[in-house]
Amino acid sequence: MTALERSLWGWGHAQRFPDLEARRAQGELFQAALGFAIGEPAAPAALDEIQIAKPRVPVPAELEAFTRSDLEARVLHAQGKSYRDLIRGFHGRFDNPPDFVVSPRSEAEVERTFDWAAGANVAVVPFGGGTSVVGGVECPLPPGRRGVVTLELSRLSRVLEIDDVSEVARVQAGALGPVFEAQLQSAGFTFRHYPQSYTHSTVGGWIATRAGGHFATGRTRIDAFVESARMLTPIGWYESQRFPSSGAGPSPDASLVLGSEGTLGVITEAWLRVQRPPKFRARASLGFSSFHEAAHAVRSIVQAGLQPANCRVLDPVEAQLNQVTHTGDAVLLLGFESTDHPMSTEVQRAVELAQAAGGRLSGPVRETSTGPTEEADRWKQAFIDAPYLQNVLVSCGVIADTFETACTWSRFEALDRGIRARVGKVLEEVCGAGVLTGRITHAYSDGVAPYYTFLAPGRGGAELEQWEAVKEAASSTLADLGGTITHHHAVGRVHQRHYSKERPVVYGEAFRALRARLDPSGLLNPGVLEAQ
Ligand SMILES: Cc1cc2nc3c(=O)[nH]c(=O)nc-3n(C[C@H](O)[C@H](O)[C@H](O)COP(=O)(O)OP(=O)(O)OC[C@H]3O[C@@H](n4cnc5c(N)ncnc54)[C@H](O)[C@@H]3O)c2cc1C
Repeated sequence: MTALERSLWGWGHAQRFPDLEARRAQGELFQAALGFAIGEPAAPAALDEIQIAKPRVPVPAELEAFTRSDLEARVLHAQGKSYRDLIRGFHGRFDNPPDFVVSPRSEAEVERTFDWAAGANVAVVPFGGGTSVVGGVECPLPPGRRGVVTLELSRLSRVLEIDDVSEVARVQAGALGPVFEAQLQSAGFTFRHYPQSYTHSTVGGWIATRAGGHFATGRTRIDAFVESARMLTPIGWYESQRFPSSGAGPSPDASLVLGSEGTLGVITEAWLRVQRPPKFRARASLGFSSFHEAAHAVRSIVQAGLQPANCRVLDPVEAQLNQVTHTGDAVLLLGFESTDHPMSTEVQRAVELAQAAGGRLSGPVRETSTGPTEEADRWKQAFIDAPYLQNVLVSCGVIADTFETACTWSRFEALDRGIRARVGKVLEEVCGAGVLTGRITHAYSDGVAPYYTFLAPGRGGAELEQWEAVKEAASSTLADLGGTITHHHAVGRVHQRHYSKERPVVYGEAFRALRARLDPSGLLNPGVLEAQ
């Protein structure tokens, strides 16, 4: 993928943005599904219409060979891919571009960038794929600094080594999902960590944000894949040892690398657990008369110790938008996979438990022993492509965003009801109409991760204020009803206030002390995780 192909403002590749006619047709379909009027699609600002602040610092000679400071590079690295970013970018607004973009080709060039930045009093923002939805890669000028540069890692994207006895690979942090996967596949392995942003996000970004893949249970969050990591901090290299597990004190990876969001160092490499491609698959889908009934089925399945790869509940609008055939008011998609043995017993037992909770099979249970089916590939592709719809919706003036959480099973029903009531009311008040859809993406024996999408008519020029009101209603309701501010979208700037309330006060103090020790002059990503 070259820089030229990435959309300046929207999700993914620019070439995938449909023409006016196609957008108009999609708008009509959405209007029918969502029940509110959807406007005539507009066109996004072109590169030559975008005006951004002039660079505050010139490119120094020692970084020149691996640095870009042209308009396109600065625009492409000015913000992430949340609704807030898309609507601003669509209208040509890039408020916080970096002064320039450094693309190191080696760890030595990462070190050189740090040395220059410390001496020049310039902040550094690490950048993987730039898919942050929480303002994690923006470059506002911190107080007392001369400038801010982006350090992006796309040139460090190779698998360096595979320990095929232990099934672990050493990979550079700048590898995008498909780039990493292609190298693994040529060695007979696969990774199987699929955040929905998989095609445009990186290994380093996943580790820095504690990303959640879309296997519903088992090994799904990136934490479970990291055997060890290597990170350059402003005071030197940090590298944890390769152990499958260790009880020696607090975990060095968990406290220093995972979830550090570019505030403690730049992750350059990691040893990640990989596996042989699965061969045996089994799947089933069941309809339920309510979302909560389907959730109850999920609880029975995970508490029985079954670990489905897919255990996703969609409410009716979600099912319609995802083109999933369904009967009833919620659908449960179940999928099991294994490299080693057939999944018949597991899928049969999961179906029995789901039926006992009120589920009705929507078709036959399917099994295969020859690798992915065409249908499974289609589902995966539709899931990965779904974010392109957001580009179309934004161009039609629709506010379209998602939020997610996790809570214990005992709190789930009250939380779900509370979110639907409160967010529904605010959508009505602020937008005059709107739809909130829900799904369950991840399940644990003690709780669940519900995921919500809100879609509402935006008022030209006021969309950001409308979005903020809905987002705040959602965030404060989650906090009131016992949900975390995020299950996998990270903290960045957007979730900071709620995150600081949910973590213990003493932890906050300890983290600030750690950050001050590793980055004494506050060089890295100021304003992310904590206000300055
Ligand atoms: C459409 C869409 C779908 C998404 N789906 C999911 C999902 O299913 N699961 C999920 O977990 N998230 C999801 N996200 C959020 C986002 O993709 C994740 O947070 C992802 O892990 C970010 O990776 P990235 O490489 O794009 O990082 P970036 O966006 O570039 O950076 C994210 C943060 O990590 C820091 N960072 C990046 N690379 C490094 C590095 N090498 N060293 C140190 N710090 C670094 C940055 O400074 C920033 O604070 C989605 C986002 C979008 C837009």
